[in-house]
Amino acid sequence: MVNISAYQNITAELSKKNVRLVAVSKLKTVADIEALYALGQLDFGENYVQELLLKHEQCNKNIQWHFIGHLQTNKVKYIAPFVHLIHGIDSMKLLKEVNKQAKKNGRIINCLLQVYIAREESKFGLSEEELNELLQWDELPALNNICIKGLMGMASFSSDKTLVANEFSFLNRCYQQLKAASAQHSNINAEILSMGMSNDYELAVANGSTMVRIGSLLFGNRS
Ligand SMILES: *Cc1c(COP(=O)(O)O)cnc(C)c1O
Repeated sequence: MVNISAYQNITAELSKKNVRLVAVSKLKTVADIEALYALGQLDFGENYVQELLLKHEQCNKNIQWHFIGHLQTNKVKYIAPFVHLIHGIDSMKLLKEVNKQAKKNGRIINCLLQVYIAREESKFGLSEEELNELLQWDELPALNNICIKGLMGMASFSSDKTLVANEFSFLNRCYQQLKAASAQHSNINAEILSMGMSNDYELAVANGSTMVRIGSLLFGNRS
């Protein structure tokens, strides 16, 4: 079930701040997705390749699909023909594979680099050091079929607002550095900072987020 009033309140608030909403529809039905699409929502996020393929098949073709989960190299080929933005790039190997599959499909695929900002080992992402290594990687300039559009991160799942705000502000500093690096690379055009979920999106927006990924506030809890 879609919470229409929550959707309207959240989009009204975000549009004042020029923040884009990705509606996270993982484990939710095609009917729920279509209900939100009918209200004008275009961007949807999914975590699992198999589920994304089915939904892409079944839902309106105007939908822009964001892959926000942990992407395995051997699965890139399945989503490469249509994916709008891949949020979780966390290795050079994965970036290279996305470039290869994008080329096969005659596309340029937009990517976000995922940075590890939380205190939880279950989360993925590059350290600040690995991020810098990737940006200096000598093979990066030749990847003509990807465009690095910014960064993505997930804060600690914590009620400690100072901790969460510090994690977001750290990610924003990394993002500012990436923006500065954009000038030297034709395949970097940093304009997206993807951070904030149902429980922390307001803190994320206060710390410079330009794109939030919200699921449960819109669709209810996932069982
Ligand atoms: C599930 C998920 C979300 C949305 O989480 P909610 O708490 O339901 O808003 C956002 N980002 C990522 C990477 C996710 O896996």
